[in-house]
Amino acid sequence: MAKDCVNIILFGAPGAGKGTQAEKLKMKYGLSHISTGEVIRQEIAAGSELGKSMEGYISRGELAPDELVVNMVADYVERHRDTVGNIFDGFPRTTVQAEEFEKIMNKNGMAVDMMICLDAPEEELVKRLLLRGLESGRADDSCEDVIRNRLKVYHQMTEVVADYYKKTDRVCVIDGAGSIDEVFGRLCDAVDSIRNSKK
Ligand code: ADP
Repeated sequence: MAKDCVNIILFGAPGAGKGTQAEKLKMKYGLSHISTGEVIRQEIAAGSELGKSMEGYISRGELAPDELVVNMVADYVERHRDTVGNIFDGFPRTTVQAEEFEKIMNKNGMAVDMMICLDAPEEELVKRLLLRGLESGRADDSCEDVIRNRLKVYHQMTEVVADYYKKTDRVCVIDGAGSIDEVFGRLCDAVDSIRNSKK
């Protein structure tokens, strides 16, 4: 791994803007990117055994089993040891995933530099997700009950993952309200300061 390789977890509730901002960060900094949600949707669309085993969880707005998601990320990390940096989007989502992730990164001579949390008000999240459902046809964005369940799961299972990284002083909270470009500007400041600290 290059000494200045930057590894960032992009964290936040469903609808916080992780996917949108990850795309922009990729373009600007040349980072590689994995969205576990996206990989799962691809597996489901391809009709693979892995996809079939996760379909029910996703359609109910529940989390996929830790073991399956951890294996997906382990596979990604092994293939991306030589990049300038990585964005992990939608992972880790449970404390078990965070613990396994540390082992995976260690094993590959890498480390998470920072968890960047995108913070946005709940009603704004629901509004954005329903709109995304209308525009993309994404099944888990099209039903308000499923959206509310994902937000509930986020508060119950995922929010605590930030505490895991707080212990080692690796959390940075960014205001996720405002335009895409405003939020991107704030994110770039955070990424620049991580990059500068590694020089
Ligand atoms: P969002 O953050 O907008 O809910 P994602 O595309 O990140 O969307 O994830 C969609 C769904 O995929 C989640 O609701 C969950 O069911 C599943 N999923 C994604 N990442 C994980 C993960 N790390 N662990 C368990 N399930 C996951």
